[in-house]
Amino acid sequence: MDSVNNNGHHSESLGQDGKFDVLIIGGGPAGASAAIYTARAGLKTLVIDKGLTAGALGITGKIANYPGVSEQITGAELLERMRGQAESFGAQFVSDKVIGVELTGEEKVVFGNQGTYNSRSVIIATGSMGRGSRVKGEDRLLGRGVSYCATCDGAFYREKDVMVAGNSDEAVEEALFLTKFASRVHFLSPAPEVKAPRHLLDELEENEKITLVKGASLVEILGDSKVDAVRYAPRGKPEVELPVAGAFIYLQGGKPETGFLQGQLNVSDTGCLLVDREFQTSIPGVYAVGDVLCDHIKQAVISAGEGAIAAIALEKNLHGRSKASVDWSK
Ligand SMILES: Cc1cc2nc3c(=O)[nH]c(=O)nc-3n(C[C@H](O)[C@H](O)[C@H](O)COP(=O)(O)OP(=O)(O)OC[C@H]3O[C@@H](n4cnc5c(N)ncnc54)[C@H](O)[C@@H]3O)c2cc1C
Repeated sequence: MDSVNNNGHHSESLGQDGKFDVLIIGGGPAGASAAIYTARAGLKTLVIDKGLTAGALGITGKIANYPGVSEQITGAELLERMRGQAESFGAQFVSDKVIGVELTGEEKVVFGNQGTYNSRSVIIATGSMGRGSRVKGEDRLLGRGVSYCATCDGAFYREKDVMVAGNSDEAVEEALFLTKFASRVHFLSPAPEVKAPRHLLDELEENEKITLVKGASLVEILGDSKVDAVRYAPRGKPEVELPVAGAFIYLQGGKPETGFLQGQLNVSDTGCLLVDREFQTSIPGVYAVGDVLCDHIKQAVISAGEGAIAAIALEKNLHGRSKASVDWSK
């Protein structure tokens, strides 16, 4: 597999046989710190993440309360440091969006838009930027012009106009991908500034096929049996109806990102993932950490701590010991 990691480098050797000891889904503070510990323990570790600014820390403008980091840095910068540290211990990162899993067997399988990944254990660290409420018309026209995956559906929009709504590097990458097919890509960012690394913003702004509309909230998706247009509200201006054949939506909300689990793990009455003291879920070898859990204080340091606890427990369990053999203090 030839894929691109979150630092933009090609990583052609995703495990010689494509198998890992640990797959970590989500590279925020929870996933990245878990990767530091599993990689340091010599476990073959792959972190699958859909975008640096698709998570809560990635969109944080300024972080001032993370221990040991007293200078003003952005959440994305802090995250890049964590990821770099994990890579320095041998963890690999791949830029991909996980859309499904098969967790019940001895071998765990994770399905992404770009590939399939196999491992002995999994740490779920996808945060809580999932969407709760939907835009009017979105559910009705899902699969009939509404999509969440340019890689999957982009080719259906050859020589057609499409819309991308979002404000993350995931959204920008998807929009750039769509320019291979669509005649025009309207990029609607709900915020006045698009949150993405500079090189991606440059590509977005310079691409002649992309029309960038900042500060535009998607209001409705229109069409009877398929998408015909979208309606959006530009800040301080009357709503606009925009004819498009496809609506690709990458908006963020505040719900745990668990859709890809397809009910394979036990949850509470309120739909929250159940974990034990070491963050192991109802399936042995599968852990969940960070904001993806409901009863948890939403702070980067807490997510990082949970990632470390799960990684230590996982290493201990993989090697069938009651106590971790690795000297974590080194
Ligand atoms: C605006 C804002 C400001 C904040 N300020 C602070 C602060 O000052 N101090 C502080 O300590 N905390 C702050 N927080 C909270 C903190 O950012 C979160 O608690 C923390 O980032 C949670 O870490 P996490 O790793 O669990 O999730 P996230 O940081 O959300 O990371 C989740 C990762 O999973 C990836 N992902 C999600 N779904 C998929 C999928 N299907 N496939 C692949 N990858 C996926 C995302 O790309 C993302 O990188 C702030 C949060 C926000 C929103």
